[in-house]
Amino acid sequence: MTMVTLPPLREVIAAHGLRASKALGQNFLLDGQLLARIAAIPGDLKGQRVFEVGPGPGGLTRALLHAGADVVAVERDERCLPALAELSEAFPGHLRVIDGDAMAVDAQKEAGEGAHIVANLPYNVGTALLIGWLEAPLWTPWWQSATLMFQQEVAERIVAQAGSSAYGRLSVLAQWRSSARLALKVHRSAFTPPPKVMSAVVHIVPHAAPEGVNAALLSQLTAAAFGQRRKMLRQSLRGLPGALEALAMCDIDGERRAETVSVEDFVRLARALGEIRG
Ligand code: SAM
Repeated sequence: MTMVTLPPLREVIAAHGLRASKALGQNFLLDGQLLARIAAIPGDLKGQRVFEVGPGPGGLTRALLHAGADVVAVERDERCLPALAELSEAFPGHLRVIDGDAMAVDAQKEAGEGAHIVANLPYNVGTALLIGWLEAPLWTPWWQSATLMFQQEVAERIVAQAGSSAYGRLSVLAQWRSSARLALKVHRSAFTPPPKVMSAVVHIVPHAAPEGVNAALLSQLTAAAFGQRRKMLRQSLRGLPGALEALAMCDIDGERRAETVSVEDFVRLARALGEIRG
């Protein structure tokens, strides 16, 4: 695709009066090189569909369009829509902007099967959106990959291994039927305005789910186990019918804490729980 010449993002922000709103989690990325690096994480996007949450003034959106993607972007802040409309005009037929709340939009319907998700997520809804994508009822899911900017602490939880302090429910949900890696750390000074904490981009690629595991049961197990992460499993799982039997069936010591149980062992537990419950 030929490079389209666009005004610098700072000018776009000034021209449309896009003063960053804290309530909307707005921290904008303006460095074209950094944005191009993020847009390259999912691989070659030429002709690929991308679902973007929170394009804001459109920095990441530009990078995705320059990479040849067809972008569907959901933005909640109406102030950003005129700037995004200009971007749409510069890339005719390649950018569709949905004026709305990503929590309420049917991403699968809007983006279609096989889309890549790429987003510098608003911090207030980022984790909830990720859990929704990870808990897609059909697996492999509608999305082909997810490239997501989070606060570094959240990114570390997503990719953490058992035994580390960052390991938790998010690690298990992100890893039991996907591979998740930390692709890029981003210094807080890269954002306008800079947030208080560092950020990082994770790259998640779904793979085939292990056989015989009910995703809803795994979700309940991890919620119970990590809901009281300092407690022994036989304590934290007591309220979940069949869970103590499942522990015994899998030969997992009830005196252990959730943070020591590997993703594979959570998968075995969920499978056993499914068998026990018939
Ligand atoms: N993508 C831009 C960038 O990288 O510079 C902006 C990222 S900023 C961290 C998050 C964006 O998400 C903001 O534009 C904000 O208005 C938008 N946003 C916040 N909550 C949203 C929601 N529930 N649905 C859609 N967009 C939302």
